[in-house]
Amino acid sequence: MTVLHNNLQAETAAVSALDYLPVSQMRDLQLARLLATLRRAYERVRLYRERMAERKATPEELRGLEDLARFPFTVKNDLRDTYPYGLLASPLEEVVRLHASSGTTGKPIVVAYTQQDVDVWTDAMSRTLAACGVGRGDIVQNAYGYGLFTGGLGAHYGAEALGATVIPISGGNTDRQIMVMKDFRVTAICCTPSYFLHLLDRAAQLGVEVCELPLRVGVFGAEPWTDSLRRHIEAASRIQAYDIYGLTEITGPGVASECHLHQGLHVFEDHFYPEIIDPQSGEPLPEGQEGELVLTTLSKQAMPMLRYRTRDITAFLPGSCPCGRTLRRICRIGRRSDDMFIIRGVNVFPSQVESALLAVEGMLPHYQIILTREEGLDQMEVQVEVTPPLASDRVAALENLHNKLAHALHQTLGLRVKVRLVGPQTIKRSEGKAQRLIDRRNT
Ligand code: ADP
Ligand code: ZN
Repeated sequence: MTVLHNNLQAETAAVSALDYLPVSQMRDLQLARLLATLRRAYERVRLYRERMAERKATPEELRGLEDLARFPFTVKNDLRDTYPYGLLASPLEEVVRLHASSGTTGKPIVVAYTQQDVDVWTDAMSRTLAACGVGRGDIVQNAYGYGLFTGGLGAHYGAEALGATVIPISGGNTDRQIMVMKDFRVTAICCTPSYFLHLLDRAAQLGVEVCELPLRVGVFGAEPWTDSLRRHIEAASRIQAYDIYGLTEITGPGVASECHLHQGLHVFEDHFYPEIIDPQSGEPLPEGQEGELVLTTLSKQAMPMLRYRTRDITAFLPGSCPCGRTLRRICRIGRRSDDMFIIRGVNVFPSQVESALLAVEGMLPHYQIILTREEGLDQMEVQVEVTPPLASDRVAALENLHNKLAHALHQTLGLRVKVRLVGPQTIKRSEGKAQRLIDRRNT
């Protein structure tokens, strides 16, 4: 193994010490790693070299972290255009793993890891799980999908490195998940929040009281979910629900995580350098201002990512976290810039619909947004599932509910939309990321 690898292992052994590193030391570490990453990218990856040359920004010009703003961005299309191996900065013989994105927005992209990259990821993911209060002695049901998707293996390695007991159940087969949760005395579960909702529903149908089981922690990520949904989940299952964030291009899950205070997500910034930019001008924004998250990897070998535009919208939270971690925090990611759709001139994000629905008492977060075009005019319909007791209620009660929902949506979106109440269990449940939006306007 290389010297770099040995050093990294030594640092990894002191896992959480980096979470508490004095800020000035963190900045020094970031600068040294950033310079090494820029050099590696410049020397080994044609696309990066050409882009840097175009911008007249070469690694040697980096004096401070703020100079990073002069370097070019990388976007998802760059990964598509260089598919599958064009961004590799290591020879293929040094690559020990390949993953691909789930491709929610088009053709999948491929990412590669050296052994050191897998170690970096494991480090970030074990610190994520530790921040969620998971550790040795926990029995972790890992219901993120295994396979090309990064969720499953990322959480798996992280949990094992912590010394927790991992159940690699992957997504799906919900009845078996519930049996395992109960019989194996699971204490922590990793999955998408929408899949956990589905598990809760099914458990109730099977007469299993999740709140009476030893389950105490949910490690939820991979899709946007609101605080209202968190409250719903926590009340229904009596667990602590944590939000974790990551993306395939940067490593997979483990880029940022909430701590027990749930006041934003700490970015593991010794590995991933965050910036927040104005999506229009590309200029970095100050703390507190909302913009697009841009990430640069600081310790990756096989596929360093320079100023990757995530399209996820967030802001840096000012001040330090009372948990003592010195890692910068970002706000929860409620929306992705490409999630937004425009209806009759009004900008709408699916998360706004979720907040509006959950503000109405007794509503469950099972909904879908359908966009159509009728005679040249865009139409938006929100289909909302009603609970079994409501479904058998009097017509007047349903009408009342319908009006309340329509009103809540109008208030939140500033737009009148069609609401359709549908029967229990009619909206398709997801085993991974939920599909909230169906856009039929161009079909
Ligand atoms: P894709 O969905 O693009 O195929 P990934 O599976 O890597 O690729 O998903 C990464 C994306 O998932 C992020 O860019 C972000 O939009 C979303 N995501 C991941 N975690 C969260 C989270 N905790 N909150 C909101 N969105 C998230
Ligand atoms: Zn904290």
